[in-house]
Amino acid sequence: MFNFAVYSLMIICAYYAFFYTNGTIGAIHIDNVIPYLISFCTYFTLNLLLVGLFFILATENIINYFKEIIKETISTYLSTLVLSLVLVILMKNERLFGLLLFTCIAFLLSLAFKQHFNLFKEVAEKANKDFLTGLNNHGYFKEILEKEVAAAKENDQPLCVVILDIDDFKKYNDLYGHIQGDQLLQEFGALLKAESDAANFIVARYGGEEFSIIMPNTQRKTAYSFMNEFRKKVNDTYYKGVEGLPYGCLSFSSGIAECEKETYSISELLNKADQAMYAAKNQGKNLVQIYNGYSEYSVQQSLSLDKELEEAEFQLKIFLSKDVYTYRHSKRVYQYAVDFSRMLNLSVHERKTLILGALVHDIGKIEIPRDILSKKGKLEPHEWELMKKHVTFGKEIIATNKKLEDLIPLVELHHERYDGFGYPYGLAGKSIPKLARILCVIDSFDAMTTERPYQKTKTFQEAIVELRACSGKQFDPQFIEPFIAMIKEFDNSGDERSKELVASNS
Ligand code: GH3
Ligand code: MG
Ligand code: MG
Repeated sequence: MFNFAVYSLMIICAYYAFFYTNGTIGAIHIDNVIPYLISFCTYFTLNLLLVGLFFILATENIINYFKEIIKETISTYLSTLVLSLVLVILMKNERLFGLLLFTCIAFLLSLAFKQHFNLFKEVAEKANKDFLTGLNNHGYFKEILEKEVAAAKENDQPLCVVILDIDDFKKYNDLYGHIQGDQLLQEFGALLKAESDAANFIVARYGGEEFSIIMPNTQRKTAYSFMNEFRKKVNDTYYKGVEGLPYGCLSFSSGIAECEKETYSISELLNKADQAMYAAKNQGKNLVQIYNGYSEYSVQQSLSLDKELEEAEFQLKIFLSKDVYTYRHSKRVYQYAVDFSRMLNLSVHERKTLILGALVHDIGKIEIPRDILSKKGKLEPHEWELMKKHVTFGKEIIATNKKLEDLIPLVELHHERYDGFGYPYGLAGKSIPKLARILCVIDSFDAMTTERPYQKTKTFQEAIVELRACSGKQFDPQFIEPFIAMIKEFDNSGDERSKELVASNS
């Protein structure tokens, strides 16, 4: 309607401009040059003004719009004008043949324009895409992010950014070569795109084995659930050769940052997501982490843990070469202990003991042969007997360091069961130290929810069902519901309290 009205006005006014400047209707005549020009200017100016009016209503920067319109339309208008004159001259002399000729030219020209346009589109798209995965590339991603962040701020809507880094990809490349590595990146990219498209998120290859996602109109809790679902899906999808990776499956670590009112720039936002991603790496990988501004440093400081932590970490690092799974598991259990101890009514000393104990609880596994630790499938009875000894070995290792003395009960007794069927002593109920009972819940939950070569992961929901089923048998019931509450809060709301950030790279 708007276009039709604009054109009607333009044609009528151009006619009167021609008429009142003494243009004569009929044959084309050199005397009419000035009326022609005035008529053309009227037509063009009116178009400019009316279309400009439309943009004034839509925007404030009028001058720029006029400049843009003139730049974009002047050649089109001029060629339309010349073509119209050609049409008139042709029809005047040749009538039907002239009309036919003119239609042919117009048709061929439009074809040529279309071809150029498609070519331009293709080139423009290529410049924005990553050649390997076909996803948006880094540069274009930032361009889109800039626009999306501006739109989110203007409309007062939430927006999340995710950075995701595939775990141990260098190892995969080393094992199978770069070509297979590329293949994996392509397949992973395709899955990421399919899942993100379904949720209306925008994905990009951020670089190397890193990907990024823009989640418009999405709060961090939704982003967190989405990423955890996707993480599980990736864990459960078979890719060629993933059995050679530490988790026996493909995994990634990712960080989420939500755009806030005071977020100053997209680089600040990306930085936060990056920090959260590194925090996920530091806590054992195969994790999703929300940026929350805390640093692990503050936990260490508030409990003055730094010295002891350093000591315990030092011991734990031996696992990096022998049994990466145990290293990462210990880091995650440590993190759960940090969060859970804050919820429980524990003294500062108890908190410290629980957190440190969580970090070193499996230290005795250092004495267990590699082939038993990494065995795929059920352990033979004699192997199982040896495996169970890790708690005793652990106690002996810890006992050599006077400063870590308080951790002995946690290391030695975290496999005792509330019903008395645990090991090494078969203690029951309250005769198991409180902190060891708490650690037993946390340790089991992490074991249930992380992938091992011979065991399927449980989702958080499935693990919660299992915790309840074993409440009063394996676990002290008083800690089950508080722990579930913490996990649920974290799983559903992406609660800031439940995960600390490691701001520094270790
Ligand atoms: P982390 O779990 O800490 O992320 O370990 P990582 O091995 O994944 O990370 P690191 O940064 O040590 O190594 C990344 C590797 O990704 C190294 C590089 O060779 C590989 N890589 C980056 N881009 C490509 C690519 O386009 N194709 C292939 N095949 N490999 C790539
Ligand atoms: Mg990387
Ligand atoms: Mg990586």
